[in-house]
Amino acid sequence: MEKKVSVEISARHVHLPEDVYKKLFGEDAEMTSVKNLTGGGAFVDARRVTLVGPKSEMHRVAILGPYRPTQIELSKTDARKLGVEPPIRISGDTKGSAPIKIIGDCGEYEAEEGAIIAKRHIHVCEREAAEWGVKKNDIVKVSIKTAERSLIFDDVVIRTNPEESLAIMHIDTDEGNAAGMDGTTDGFVVE
Ligand SMILES: [Zn+2]
Repeated sequence: MEKKVSVEISARHVHLPEDVYKKLFGEDAEMTSVKNLTGGGAFVDARRVTLVGPKSEMHRVAILGPYRPTQIELSKTDARKLGVEPPIRISGDTKGSAPIKIIGDCGEYEAEEGAIIAKRHIHVCEREAAEWGVKKNDIVKVSIKTAERSLIFDDVVIRTNPEESLAIMHIDTDEGNAAGMDGTTDGFVVE
């Protein structure tokens, strides 16, 4: 059976809770969607932040809504440039992760933790996961065919959701570049 996933690349971004958002952009500021993302009501906010690490800073970093606990998702390349050392983690698991400073139009916030490199993963509905013979937290391999840099990724975590949905794999810009991807590409679970 073909176990197909749509492989999407996530560029660096932050998730912020409401209190931090207001600290950065003012008491009256509210998130405003400029682009809706696939699945779960996520969107790109109209505002941007600057990230500051010991070695450099990065401007115009996207904020993804809705409000959520602070999490800064970077690629390894971003982390090296900034001079921070985030652990590789599944989204939401930020305890003891790297500190970083976030600057908005009206203020700044020293996140004591929250910077991670997202562990590559697949979102798949429980029905399809059962068909594939996998369950939550299983590790699989995914093959991505591109013109000249086809690649098989190992260490891909399965995340399941009860609602019927298309299987989507999330990787970061380093991983997408390593596979020679220019945008969303089909992948296949091979193990
Ligand atoms: Zn994801």
